[in-house]
Amino acid sequence: MTLSKMRETGIRTINRVCARCGSHGIVHVDGLPGDVTVMELGKTMCCTTCGAPETETQPNWHEGNAAHAMI
Ligand SMILES: [Zn+2]
Repeated sequence: MTLSKMRETGIRTINRVCARCGSHGIVHVDGLPGDVTVMELGKTMCCTTCGAPETETQPNWHEGNAAHAMI
């Protein structure tokens, strides 16, 4: 899924999870180009806790559900 597709569903953040230590965090991607895929982002993000060179990323689905609930 690309960031532009993700934004169409009302989601503006991704959930980053480290496969090595399990630490996770929410990343705002408003400033990033829309043709980048969510998976590609994970390859460019280091874990801030253990320093692993790659993290797993997925759309922050929780935010999408919250947005729909407000409408
Ligand atoms: Zn880690």
